[in-house]
Amino acid sequence: MTEPSATSDVKNRAFRQVTHPAPSLAHIGDDLCCGCSACSCACPKTAIRMVLNSEGFYRPSVDESLCNNCMLCLKFCPVRAAGEDEGRGDMDEPDICAAWSTDRENHLSSSSGGVFSELAKTVLEKKGLVCGCAWGEGWTPRHVLIDSPDDLASLKGSKYIPSLVHARLFRDIVDLAKRGSTVLFCGTPCQVAGLRLVAPPEARANMILVDLVCHGVPSLTSFHAYLDHRFGSRDRIESFSFRNKELSVQTLCAVERSGARYLKNCGEDPWFRAAMVYHLYLQKICFTCPFGSMPRPGDITLGDFWGIPEIWHHQKGDSLVLASTPKGKALIRELVGRRSLRVIPSDYTTASKHIGRLRGAVYPVPRLRARALKLIASGEYLRADVCCRVPMRFYERSAGFLNRRLERLKGFLPARGRTV
Ligand SMILES: Cc1cc2nc3c(=O)[nH]c(=O)nc-3n(C[C@H](O)[C@H](O)[C@H](O)COP(=O)(O)OP(=O)(O)OC[C@H]3O[C@@H](n4cnc5c(N)ncnc54)[C@H](O)[C@@H]3O)c2cc1C
Repeated sequence: MTEPSATSDVKNRAFRQVTHPAPSLAHIGDDLCCGCSACSCACPKTAIRMVLNSEGFYRPSVDESLCNNCMLCLKFCPVRAAGEDEGRGDMDEPDICAAWSTDRENHLSSSSGGVFSELAKTVLEKKGLVCGCAWGEGWTPRHVLIDSPDDLASLKGSKYIPSLVHARLFRDIVDLAKRGSTVLFCGTPCQVAGLRLVAPPEARANMILVDLVCHGVPSLTSFHAYLDHRFGSRDRIESFSFRNKELSVQTLCAVERSGARYLKNCGEDPWFRAAMVYHLYLQKICFTCPFGSMPRPGDITLGDFWGIPEIWHHQKGDSLVLASTPKGKALIRELVGRRSLRVIPSDYTTASKHIGRLRGAVYPVPRLRARALKLIASGEYLRADVCCRVPMRFYERSAGFLNRRLERLKGFLPARGRTV
């Protein structure tokens, strides 16, 4: 497994003290930065590092003594380039399907249908490399590069918080691909768009880019503060999964070193609800994600097939797969041919009906978000949690009330007092 070395961590700590926003960040502004690391990778002077800001999001910080203002960091910013046709010439009409890994163990240990691991296994079997997100020290996710199927387990499962892609990792991927190795990269659409932008065409030819249908990433600091609050210290946790499939496909599971287990449906866990249901801790740009529509930045897009027709539904999770390029389509066909995947063809209308992040959906920014993140930044997780609960309950009730009204209007429910 390749990760940033200990010396680079020491340098990173020293660098943290120099927190000048990179020229790209100064130009687009903090609210539009997605923390993908592309600018850091593009900097020819290696003057840009990604550092965690007080709210818990990665932001590019520049060492001004090295920066020569070439502005390549801005040129390679995927947010700035979003909507341009850059590098998307190979995009076709996507093949869309519901898919499940035929390996039961893999299906159970993955977030959705286990398609990512099947793609990764195939690449690794052919002596290629795979880059994905693994848990790091202190329950901090970061992307790592693996070349052995033995390391694949660490990449499995969604971590619903920002994952750091070290600039050196992007550079390694580009170098390896240029030298002819096949490299599969899996990440959020902004990370994939960033890598796509910094990779020259000769490298891109050997890369398989897999982007996720992404709801958005919540603050890493809020997650850490929650773990410290809930378990006394996050160091007490031995294993953690956002998608343990014991109770339902959406079960959050933490096992403490003492053996105690915390199992909660995601919708009932206070942090997950605040972060992913009410969007209180979401990164600002995620509300208007510029990559959440078609065409997708990846050769293949993976997501949960929410709203899958009941007759296809698998209790342990359904994957939605969009293969948008000839390379992506060939790989999915290969997996089906080897019987590693079971697929049922679908279409954009069915797939996008319940998945806003294929239709360019925009979420409203909750009024309490700024206050909640401020409290998180000042280390007051409990106050953030408490101050959000009452309005959240109000929101929940009023949303429930409005939904019921709507249902009645549609004629699905009998009006109160009326007999049918
Ligand atoms: C932050 C986030 C939000 C998501 N939101 C949605 C959504 O709203 N709707 C939807 O349909 N699907 C969403 N997904 C995707 C979904 O949860 C599954 O990851 C996807 O369906 C692939 O599942 P799988 O079973 O094939 O493989 P899995 O084994 O579950 O996939 C694992 C791979 O996902 C990638 N990954 C995991 N965590 C991160 C991370 N923090 N940053 C970057 N890459 C990561 C890694 O490369 C990892 O190796 C989201 C995923 C993430 C990470």
